[in-house]
Amino acid sequence: MPIDNHPEMSEAQAALMGLARDFAQSRLAPGAAERDRSGAFPADLYKEAAEHGLLGVNLPERLGGGGLGMLEAALVFEQFARVDGSFSLTAAASVGLTAGHLHRACDDAQAERWIPPLLRGELGAWALTEPGSGSDAAALRCRAERRGDGYTIDGAKMFITQGSVFSVMVLMARTGEGKGGISAFVIEASDAGRESRPIHGKLGMRSSDTAEIVFQGCEIPGGRLLGAEGEGFSQAVATLVEGRFGVGALCCGLGQGALDAALAYAHEREAFGRSIGEFGGIREQLADSAIGLAAGRELVTRAARLLDSGEDAADSAARAKLFASEAALRSCDQSIQIHGGYGYTDEIPAHRFWRDARLLTIGEGTSEILRGVIARSVFA
Ligand SMILES: Cc1cc2nc3c(=O)[nH]c(=O)nc-3n(C[C@H](O)[C@H](O)[C@H](O)COP(=O)(O)OP(=O)(O)OC[C@H]3O[C@@H](n4cnc5c(N)ncnc54)[C@H](O)[C@@H]3O)c2cc1C
Repeated sequence: MPIDNHPEMSEAQAALMGLARDFAQSRLAPGAAERDRSGAFPADLYKEAAEHGLLGVNLPERLGGGGLGMLEAALVFEQFARVDGSFSLTAAASVGLTAGHLHRACDDAQAERWIPPLLRGELGAWALTEPGSGSDAAALRCRAERRGDGYTIDGAKMFITQGSVFSVMVLMARTGEGKGGISAFVIEASDAGRESRPIHGKLGMRSSDTAEIVFQGCEIPGGRLLGAEGEGFSQAVATLVEGRFGVGALCCGLGQGALDAALAYAHEREAFGRSIGEFGGIREQLADSAIGLAAGRELVTRAARLLDSGEDAADSAARAKLFASEAALRSCDQSIQIHGGYGYTDEIPAHRFWRDARLLTIGEGTSEILRGVIARSVFA
């Protein structure tokens, strides 16, 4: 079995993975390094991915999705990330978090209005984190005050992927006290009273937009509320379970991209009259990376199965994300090591993969928080 295969993959799933891989290799890979330098997001390529049916493969066909399962979604995120982490992060935030939350919480009319454009290549954002609260998400302070038939939003959000380029954003805001006082709303790009400030100087994921957003008297109609008042926190927690699973897949892709580069270099580079791939020290590092990523895929596959069967996947998704993010970082680090001095320059992709992967032990639940989630099930 090739090392990048998921366990138990069907022929149809392998074909979808092949389609995603071809698109990633032929369309995303050529400009990925330059986009990392310039920070430009390839909106045209994102629309092209949508035309190939690669966005929202797990969402219903009636909304423009592929009507498939979570493993299929994982295969696509992984192949995007294998060449371009930023592109995969954009897809994970837009169709994984945003469209996923909308699908979970919208009524039919809301779903038909907001989900299909996201699967056609418009960008979605999902806003939970604030300047004063990240891991402790229930401490959020952004407020939604009921005024007549609608709401007025005041407050700030921090580190929001696509926060300055979204067409639709899901916003968690406070309508009361405690976790049960958090509600979810849709913000559209044209809503007045919202200012987005792109965050510059990120270590990685540079062609994925990240922004701080300030709301001052942002008035939205009552029809923007998702579900009932007070349901926002539980909707967000369920969305994060799927999000962590998606990030697990993305990590496998980043780690694999770094391993691909290390393998190629191990063949090509010579020292002491031999290719460096013949040295035990190099082979051990390659083996360690391959095992880590394969184990990450096993955990991602297990979480996909639970999500598809409607079972509680919180623990599995946390394990998949925690393990795969740390395996990806090790793979990237070993790829840099195998490239020797060239590994310390931005001429090689392992450098970019490592900087991109560094986000993934932080975003959507830090490793410390995830170990806490997993420990709860260990102690249960
Ligand atoms: C590039 C990027 C994109 C992002 N995209 C989004 C997005 O689209 N939407 C969104 O809502 N958010 C987004 N985030 C925010 C991200 O999810 C948060 O940064 C993350 O959840 C951590 O929150 P924090 O930064 O406030 O850190 P804090 O919560 O302040 O944590 C600081 C440190 O304390 C540790 N810590 C905190 N609590 C505990 C505890 N109980 N036990 C042990 N250790 C603890 C943490 O693990 C961490 O090491 C993004 C962040 C970045 C950098």
